[in-house]
Amino acid sequence: MSKIDIASLTKEELKKEILELGEKSFRADQVYAWLHERLVDSFAEMTNLSKELREKLEAKFVIAPMEEVGRQISQKDGTQKFIFKLADGNIIESVLMIYDYGNSVCISSQAGCRMGCSFCASTIGGLNRSLKPSEMLRQIYKIQKITNKRVSNVVVMGTGEPLDNYDNLVRFIHMLTDEDGLNISGRNVTVSTCGLVPEMKKLARENLTITLALSLHGATQEKRQELMPIARKYEIHEVIDACNYYFEKTKRRVTFEYALVKDVNDTPEDIRELTKILKKTKGHLNIIPVNPVKERNFERPEPKNALSFKNKLEKNGINVTIRRERGTDIDGACGQLRRRYIESIEEE
Ligand code: SAH
Repeated sequence: MSKIDIASLTKEELKKEILELGEKSFRADQVYAWLHERLVDSFAEMTNLSKELREKLEAKFVIAPMEEVGRQISQKDGTQKFIFKLADGNIIESVLMIYDYGNSVCISSQAGCRMGCSFCASTIGGLNRSLKPSEMLRQIYKIQKITNKRVSNVVVMGTGEPLDNYDNLVRFIHMLTDEDGLNISGRNVTVSTCGLVPEMKKLARENLTITLALSLHGATQEKRQELMPIARKYEIHEVIDACNYYFEKTKRRVTFEYALVKDVNDTPEDIRELTKILKKTKGHLNIIPVNPVKERNFERPEPKNALSFKNKLEKNGINVTIRRERGTDIDGACGQLRRRYIESIEEE
């Protein structure tokens, strides 16, 4: 029988397991605190438990290891990109960004991705598998331990489509925001989706206080469909309706992300259509000049053109910002460090 992944269990589930071992329930509180507050990597470190109990735990459970196999540190702004190897050899990427308001970690929700967005490096090799709650949490725990910096914000914007791993994502958020874990405020957590409509609506009903970000990238059905295959399944109007539903239910404003690509979605026509569609929402637009991916043929617009794109939208009454770039000196685009790492080991 394979061992249970202990750090994916909620407090209640852990309690049940510990009672089944014939132990008192306060032992579950202790174990939970070791795992999610003190962030240990092994049962041996749980020093207030008897050796006998630690052995019992060891026999039934596993704390899935995650090894740092690569890291890049930006000399410009202190951004750090981590490459982690999971227990089964899968490779994932996570990023630490230092801001005035705190330290933010961008995590991956899957090893690879099956959404196929045309400008994105993470989807090139397809989906290997979804991450377990413990593997999403562990990226944050590892970074906090390695750098000794307290993480205050989490964005699920790394490799993968979080809503394609729905149950594990929701469990992860509950554990991340639990007062007996890192106790990060739900308001400081953002989940980004390419627009899986049924899951967006379901998420709206979970009673969470997190922010939802929608990857819009095109302002019309035709444009969006060119860049994002998933748009064929869920039409732009359905997606916008799901965003409005999210706002109604949670009172949290949705963020719309827009990777600005030269001559693709940066024309006056795009400004008109974007204005039209965003006027139907209460959200905020975040422009990301596209990170060129070597396997793809997309260019970013000149900075002055990106600025003028933004200013014109602003004049039209749209609430818009250009995303401040971090770590531009360390492997530009999202998912590229992971790809490069995988390529380098395949060559060996
Ligand atoms: N699957 C989720 C989260 C992953 S990526 C989603 O689609 O939202 C986080 C954001 O980075 C998304 O908006 C994604 O479209 C964007 N992105 C991916 N590749 C990019 C690139 N090369 N340049 C700029 N943004 C990119």
